[in-house]
Amino acid sequence: MLDEFVLDQKIVTTILKNAVEKNRYSHAYLFETNGYKNANTVALAFAKYLSCPNHYSNNKNCINCTQCNLIDQNTFSEIKIIEPDGLWIKKEQLDSLQAEFMQTAVQSQYRIYIIHNAEKMNVSASNSILKFLEEPAPNIIAILITDNMYQLLDTIVSRCQIISFAKNGETKNSMIEKIIDSIYIPTTVDKLTLDKYMETVVHFVEYYESKKENTLLNTQNLWHNVIDDRDKILMAFEMMLLLYKDILNFKMNRKVEYYDEKLSLLQKIAEKNSMKELVKKIHIVHLTKEKIKLNVNQNLLIDEFILEIRCNI
Ligand SMILES: [Zn+2]
Repeated sequence: MLDEFVLDQKIVTTILKNAVEKNRYSHAYLFETNGYKNANTVALAFAKYLSCPNHYSNNKNCINCTQCNLIDQNTFSEIKIIEPDGLWIKKEQLDSLQAEFMQTAVQSQYRIYIIHNAEKMNVSASNSILKFLEEPAPNIIAILITDNMYQLLDTIVSRCQIISFAKNGETKNSMIEKIIDSIYIPTTVDKLTLDKYMETVVHFVEYYESKKENTLLNTQNLWHNVIDDRDKILMAFEMMLLLYKDILNFKMNRKVEYYDEKLSLLQKIAEKNSMKELVKKIHIVHLTKEKIKLNVNQNLLIDEFILEIRCNI
């Protein structure tokens, strides 16, 4: 089940579970494996999660559920898996699937088809699936899986929500290492203490997002006690910029680049902000970062920043 993959593929499993919990799933997913070996199994686990009336992501919780039992026994009629027949996936395979799916589902609310090695669809198969994707039936969900997205027709790709898997081992890179590689680190800052600054920035944003301009009353504790010189302010705003960009990534179901260990916070803030608000905030963080380079009053900068967001959003 999906929960087995949380460690390997935290972002993918979070996106998929959210979609179901909020009832905002897509009619077509394109799983880009990036070489991850268990993508097919994740697809089946997701299909099972959708089909289970209790929406359990952990098998152990689902007792006496007909759907889960049938899926485990491979006798569930509403999930179909298509694999290359020889070298290619052929039109006939998709035609018979479509004919079958025209009938109403009997064992579940959804009918789901999973296409392994989707890049192996030949031209007529691609056109056949395209027609299916162009006119999605309400309760039919497609999951296409591919190692090479660029071999698929653009028109197919553009109709799918892309779910990009983390490369094997990629998650081992710690959050702070990825951030160090991408921002300005002043010579006065010891890399071993960077965690402290990053946590300060994350906590500040979390606090601001819930208390808004009341944050002004608490900037000494939240900010000045740790971020105490010009270089550190610059670094802190660069960290904040990456954080808001990741919140936007999360909101758009794109890959979270840096703060993947803070997913529940990203989710919380993404839900509170519209896409437009996040774009504006990113812009304001960016402008403030530029101001630091001029000789503005460093002590007032964070206050101005809070007010700037307040006035513009
Ligand atoms: Zn179940």
